Amino acid sequence: MAKFVYMFNEGNSEMKEILGGKGANLAEMTKIGLPVPFGFTISTHACNAYYDAEKTIPAEVKEQVMESLAKLEQESGKKLGDPENPLLVSVRSGAVFSMPGMMDTILNLGMNDETVEGVARLTNNPRFAYDSYRRFIQMFSDVVLNVDTYYFEKLLEETREEKGYTADPELTAEDWIEVIKGYKQIVKKHTKNAFPEDPTEQLFLSINAVFDSWNNQRAIVYRRLNKIPGHLGTAVNIQSMVFGNMGEDSGTGVAFTRDPSTGEHTLYGEYLINAQGEDVVAGIRTPQPIKTLKDEMPEVFQQFSETCRRLEQHYRDMQDIEFTVERGKLYILQTRNGKRTAQAAIRVAVEMVNEGILDKKEALLRVDPDALNQLLHRRIDDNHERNQLAKGLPASPGAATGQVVFDADEAELLAKDGKKVILVRQETTPDDIHGIVAAQAVVTSRGGMTSHAAVVARGMGKACICGCEAMKIDLHEKVFQIGGTVVNEGDIITIDGGTGEIMLGEIPMIEPELSEEFQLLLTWADEIRDLGVRANADNPEDSAKAREFGAEGIGLCRTEHMFMDSKRIPIVQDMILAESFEDRKEALDKLLPMQQGDFEGILEAMQGLPVTIRLLDPPLHEFLPDKEELIVETTTLKITDPDSAELAEKEMLLKKVRQLDEFNPMLGHRGCRLGMIHPEIYEMQAKAIFYAVAALAEKGIEASPEVMIPLVGHVNELKQMRELVVEAAEAVQQEKGLTITYTIGTMIEVPRAALTADQIAEEADFFSFGTNDLTQTTFGYSRDDAEGKFLQTYIENKVLPENPFAALDREGVGKLVETGVKLGRQTKPNLKTGICGEHGGEKSSIEFCYYTGLNYVSCSPYRVPLARLAAAQATI
Ligand code: PEP
Ligand code: MG
Repeated sequence: MAKFVYMFNEGNSEMKEILGGKGANLAEMTKIGLPVPFGFTISTHACNAYYDAEKTIPAEVKEQVMESLAKLEQESGKKLGDPENPLLVSVRSGAVFSMPGMMDTILNLGMNDETVEGVARLTNNPRFAYDSYRRFIQMFSDVVLNVDTYYFEKLLEETREEKGYTADPELTAEDWIEVIKGYKQIVKKHTKNAFPEDPTEQLFLSINAVFDSWNNQRAIVYRRLNKIPGHLGTAVNIQSMVFGNMGEDSGTGVAFTRDPSTGEHTLYGEYLINAQGEDVVAGIRTPQPIKTLKDEMPEVFQQFSETCRRLEQHYRDMQDIEFTVERGKLYILQTRNGKRTAQAAIRVAVEMVNEGILDKKEALLRVDPDALNQLLHRRIDDNHERNQLAKGLPASPGAATGQVVFDADEAELLAKDGKKVILVRQETTPDDIHGIVAAQAVVTSRGGMTSHAAVVARGMGKACICGCEAMKIDLHEKVFQIGGTVVNEGDIITIDGGTGEIMLGEIPMIEPELSEEFQLLLTWADEIRDLGVRANADNPEDSAKAREFGAEGIGLCRTEHMFMDSKRIPIVQDMILAESFEDRKEALDKLLPMQQGDFEGILEAMQGLPVTIRLLDPPLHEFLPDKEELIVETTTLKITDPDSAELAEKEMLLKKVRQLDEFNPMLGHRGCRLGMIHPEIYEMQAKAIFYAVAALAEKGIEASPEVMIPLVGHVNELKQMRELVVEAAEAVQQEKGLTITYTIGTMIEVPRAALTADQIAEEADFFSFGTNDLTQTTFGYSRDDAEGKFLQTYIENKVLPENPFAALDREGVGKLVETGVKLGRQTKPNLKTGICGEHGGEKSSIEFCYYTGLNYVSCSPYRVPLARLAAAQATI
């Protein structure tokens, strides 16, 4: 005879196909010796046999169910329908693949007018017994007899009203007895039959209902959506109920095998004596910490601790356990991998390696790289309420509190006074850099994840929210408005850059901590990964931070940030405004030693590690005042002081600003196109780099500069710029009488560069994929506007799977990266390749970089730990 029914001790986790997921799991727990309430599983094959027999339970299945029931009764010492010591069971469906909500659970099956009294006696709690009975009638009627719950709820409500109660706990045992009578009348009215009192009949009706539920509308739709074949069938699990409310030697609780917030290896959780699961959830009584179980029930505690140890050994992870003690006997009702904070995830993973439960690779896979962000930044204490005003894009993680300012100069001034400020702008430009430095955080109403504010703030590890379109900023009135709330300059706000939330007032914070375990886990990541990790940094402080976080070099030093210093900006403007070559040269000569100083600082901080320095990239108008503001100023001066020198100067400036104005600045005169038209700018920068190397060499400090030319689209651009850099190097070498080691490479940021990478590689020692621009130019989406305008809607409506400026679009942009690497290495097999767009700090993009054969990723210093872990995970 075919076997259709399995006791829990007859199966294991491998038998999912026969026992369903839940049944196989219960069997596995039983097999490893856990005290699981006993029971049996009716197999998926029985379900199919039921359908083959035109929806009747075949006789042999029935027979096996009765045999298994007898075994269960024997094992539990209770009997289905026995008023003295009634066995009550739960009935649950359990398909091979989990299908949540397919059929509701039936609890307390076996209750009837007689057994309810037995339960009342045994628990010494008639109220509980009758409440359980009425719940059973309601559940059973809903799931098995198809009587709508609505009728029962209505009756209950009427009873409450009649008695003047506000909530169910106020009903007494007598009240429930009355309700039960009413419930039975409802059943009679709607099914034309009395409620089935015979527990065996209840059992078989439930089994029928579970089998039927396999083909209910919900299940069919769910299977179609999830591509689950219809022939699999569902299993049915029958498990004995246990009661935690049978007296002072009973109880119920939930516990973690380790502390889920710190990861400490200690039992963590709570329990209630003489209580059922609902009592813990309902919060009527205050549960006790699990540690006190040691005094109240030492033997149970001992057994529980041992069970936890065994569970961890078996499932090889921290467990979240539901348990019940029935008259001094421990039962495990459920166990699953426990949710935990990032800090706990790290500590648990590392300690499990030390305890021999996991190996290092497994431990590395247990920590989500994204979660590390939490640990590297200050964050909001979750114990406090968030009074959210609006949500923008979570552009740079971390939390900050400060008074609102709308102007970079003001931010700098207030910060000098020791004030904490949050800079709020429609968007930021390199002009605002000093304000960003001074502020605790930055908020913009426009711009996306790769906008200026986002990139700069991430680089500094500062919290930032971008593209908060709900925020209407009035710079003249110095207020912003969100919905009906007006926030004035000077008002205090708190922001969470990790979630994009903006909140009114101050909220307490938790400081970041870099635990020993964290450091250790990262050293394991370093042992395993092949992909290099560098940082994007533009100054010695960020470079030092990057080193501290484990960066192996600088993958992108954006030199434009160095031009924005308040002392330099007038000289930079002189350079831009110069009408003659001589005037421009004069300005450049002043800038050279300043840039040299910058490079010395960064190269020194990196101690001989490679430093990729990118020559000037943004359009020059970014260094000049805003056109609109200039128009207002000149118009005002024309009225108030028409003959002034200031007006003449401003008009000149406006003329130049207008000359440089472009319809599409991001596709305009920027990148290497600047160097092509104004070679003297790049020449100054190249010389500054080589002078810096020479100066360091004199001090005995090693330096490895890699000069990078941005936004190349045609090999001829690179050829020309390369010659320029080589000449600069030769000039400095000759002047200083030493040999300088350096390389020259390019960024691949436009599709043409990727598609002609074989030609470009002729002139390049390395490629660095600038995937911010490459995404912009491949999709044709403006990186500054797209997110605020349509991209969010695209993502919500699933037009795009995710934001391509955050996670690299493998199918499109990724194909260009692959092509670029392949063609480049056709020309130069050992061509060094890396990525320095924001994707270099995002885990799925890092995985892609590994598969594409890049040598390194480069990201902001605060993302370096994430990148080290993600790179290791990609390798595993
Ligand atoms: C890029 O385009 O990916 C890049 C790194 O350069 P930037 O963001 O400075 O344009
Ligand atoms: Mg770029």
